[in-house]
Parts: sequence; C-alpha cells; structure tokens
Amino acid sequence: MMTHSLVAMSYIVATILFILSLSGLSNQETARKGNYYGMLGMAIAIIATTLSASVTTYEILIIALLIGGAIGAAAALKVEMTQMPELVAIMHSLVGMAAVLVGYANFMDNTVVIEGVEKTIHVLEIYLGVLIGAVTFSGSVIAFCKLSEKISGKPLLLPGRHWFNLTLLIASIVLGWMFLQAIDTGDDPLIPLAMMTVIALIFGIHMVMAIGGADMPVVVSMLNSYSGWAAAATGFMLNNDLLIVTGALVGSSGAILSYIMCRAMNRHFLSVIAGGFGTASGGEAAAIEGEVQPIEAEETAQLLLAAKNIMIIPGYGMAVAQAQHTVYEITKLLRDKGKKVGFGIHPVAGRMPGHMNVLLAEAKVPYDIVFEMDEINEDWGKVDVSIVIGANDIVNPSAITDPNSPIAGMPVLECWKGETTIVLKRSMASGYAGVGNPLFVMDNTRMLFGDANTTKQAVLKALRG
Ligand code: NDP
Repeated sequence: MMTHSLVAMSYIVATILFILSLSGLSNQETARKGNYYGMLGMAIAIIATTLSASVTTYEILIIALLIGGAIGAAAALKVEMTQMPELVAIMHSLVGMAAVLVGYANFMDNTVVIEGVEKTIHVLEIYLGVLIGAVTFSGSVIAFCKLSEKISGKPLLLPGRHWFNLTLLIASIVLGWMFLQAIDTGDDPLIPLAMMTVIALIFGIHMVMAIGGADMPVVVSMLNSYSGWAAAATGFMLNNDLLIVTGALVGSSGAILSYIMCRAMNRHFLSVIAGGFGTASGGEAAAIEGEVQPIEAEETAQLLLAAKNIMIIPGYGMAVAQAQHTVYEITKLLRDKGKKVGFGIHPVAGRMPGHMNVLLAEAKVPYDIVFEMDEINEDWGKVDVSIVIGANDIVNPSAITDPNSPIAGMPVLECWKGETTIVLKRSMASGYAGVGNPLFVMDNTRMLFGDANTTKQAVLKALRG
C-alpha cells in the first residue's frame, strides 16, 4: 500500500509525463518518444492508483484489469491500419460509457455521507458526468458505424432539427433542476437522472447522424475532446486528481485539434456541430462531364523519368492498398536519379488526423520531404508530375469552383495546376464525401486504374526495367 503523499507524487510525475507526451506527439520526429512518455505515465498512474488507499478489494480490480487488458491487447493486435479511425471512435465511446456507469454507481453509493453545499456540488458532478458521458458514448458509437461504413456517411437532416436539439437541451436543464429538487425533498431522483440519460443518448446519436461525410474529421476530433471531458468528470466523481488533469489535457487538446480541423476545412465549428453544413446549399452539385484518359504503368514510368519535380499526394486509398512501402521504394529510386520528390499532405486526408503521416513514417519516408498543404499549394506551377494515390476529396477542384458542392469552400491540394496529374484508383467511384471529381476528366489528368499497391508495383518494375 502506498502512502497518500507517495501517490500524490506519482500522480505529479505521471502528469508531467503526459504533458511531455503531448508535446512530443506534436512533431513527427519526436512522436515516438512522445508515445513512450505517455506509456510510462500511464503505467505509473495505474500502479499508483492500484496501490493507493482508495482500493479496498484487489480481487475485483485484478480480474477487471486482466479482462480489460486482454480485450485491449487482442484488439490492438488484430486491428488493421485502415481500421484505426474506427478503433479510436469506439475507444472514445468506452470513456463515455465509463463516465455514465461511474456516475450511476456514485449516485447509488450510500456509504459516502456528505451534506449541504458539498452534497449539491457532488450531485451536480454526477449529473454533468452522466450527461457528457452519455453524449460521448452514443455519438462515438454512431461515428464508429459511419467510419466503418456500417451506416451511410450521408447526413440525416430531420426537419426542424435545430428546434429538436434546443428542446433536448432545455429538457436536460429542466431535468437537472428536478434532479436537485428531488434530492432535497426526498423524492426519487433516479427518474430525472434516467430521463436525462436517455435524452443525452438521443442527442449524441442525432448530433453525429446530422453530420455529412466531409465534416467527419471535425466530429472525430470533437468526440476525442468530449471523451477527455467525460474522463475529467469521472475524476471529479471519484475524487481523483490525476483523472481530472488527464481528462482536461485530452479535452483541451481535442478542442484545439477540432479548431485546427475546422480551419483546415474552412468550416465554422458551430455550423459543423449544428449539422448539415455544406449539404446542398441551394442547388444541385454540378454533374461531371468529360472524357477519362487512362494510362498504363509503363507510360507512367516514362513520364516520371522525364520529370524533374514530382509531388506525391497520398489519400485514404493508399492506406487501404497498404501501398506506402512501394511508394517509398519508387521515391528512393527517383531521388537516386536526381529527381526532386515531395509528399503533399492534406490535413483531412485519410480517416483520422495525421493518418498519412503515420503511414509515411511507417514506410520510413524522410520527414523533410513531407509537406503540409499550406507549404506547397502556391507551388504547383513548378510541378511536372503529381501522383495522386487513392485520394479523391482532397484534390477535388469543385471545392473551389462549385458553390453547391458539399465540400465547397474546403481548401484542396490544387495539383491540376501542375503539368500532368496521374490519379491511381480502382474506378471512377467518389470518395468519402460522395462527390464527383472533375479532376479525373481534366485534359492534363491521366487515370491509372487498379489497386494502388498493384499499380505502384508495376510502375516500380517499369522504372527498374
Ligand atoms: P477519399 O475517401 O476522398 O477517397 C479515397 C479514394 O481511394 C476513393 O475514391 C477510392 O476510389 C480510392 N481507393 C480505395 N481503395 C483503394 C485501393 N485499394 N487502391 C487505390 N485506390 C483506392 O479520401 P481522401 O483521403 O481524398 O479524403 C478524405 C475524406 O475522408 C475527406 O472527405 C475527409 O473529410 C474524410 N474524413 C477524414 C477524416 C480525417 O480525420 N482525416 C475522418 C473522417 C472522414 P476507388 O474506389 O475508385 O478505388
């Protein structure tokens, strides 16, 4: 058993490690170290909490740790890189569920005897904890279903949805008041608490259902933030300082990430949350007309050999095809031949923030040739060949040219301004936002159809041959 001061000391060390972890994760070169800091911090946090005086029955705790640890380890081993976004979403839902369960357990716990203002604060913490937890839980489950394509990414736009949301909000406030009253008067407070839980669950479902495919990145980061606040609320209910601090760190960093995502997509946070933003703002999105010009691997290799300045734009399809290693082989070969090769990364490429950076780091692509959109979007005139690998929405010119497009206003990588663009994908199918892409029929675009890894292998072979 650890003394109270030793536990407090361990919590401070863990907090410092979590802050170092966050600062490490902000940069690709230090991200690995950031992960190690995070793991160490979490190990210290678990050991200190387990050995603290607040734990009285070890049997239950050890059984729970073993079951939870085994499920987590099995999921981490089994999950494909392409399923990471769904895994993150479902993990957020578990944080939400934990906040709800801890809230109810705390509420039903008769062993804690507190009175007066302290009691009011405690029951308010429970009410808010359950509220945030339930919204996070149901919202994350819907995000999981949308990201894993178990349900359509199309926004569900109920008539009068803003009034519906407002009604749910007012009902939660009124029920909160009834909950406090019931505790004072001796009526059953469980009824308003349970009613609010149902309302919060419905609100979470409705909020994420109303968000269109193109706006999902904001939802993913927003639910990340909510899960942090849910953890902080759990910390308040359990009187655990480390959980409060850690929850606040996750909550605020998630909020900053949501802001960065909104800025990258040129969206207003509130309009994304209100839902339906960018979906049919008056008219139909323009139909895509024109002739597709296919190309083969041999000819692609020739174009690359003739080019001096090459830009590679990876998207979600590169993750699906697991083409990053072949892409890096090609990059090495072209750089050895004296070509300038760079990677252009859109902030919402793939299905989670930083998705492409993770894949490129895995393939050991040097960081100094990986550029953010803002660093390169002025320079397309100097690019001889850009290769779009399984990307679609992030290179869609209609975001700029068509005000009725669901992605109108979102900055995109303007590769069509270069000399030639080669797009690698399997078909003419649209991307996550479900929008047609006029890039595919432009005069200077060539389509290399097929699984990106297979076609890239063929290009590599042709380059070597
Ligand atoms: P998109 O979803 O727009 O397009 C991906 C393309 O990859 C598809 O058109 C598909 O075409 C192609 N593809 C799929 N599998 C393969 C394969 N094996 N080989 C070759 N091509 C393949 O991806 P982008 O990265 O361009 O854009 C990301 C989208 O996801 C944006 O709309 C963004 O808002 C959204 N999003 C992003 C999140 C984030 O945090 N980054 C989170 C949630 C959503 P085909 O079937 O013809 O091969």
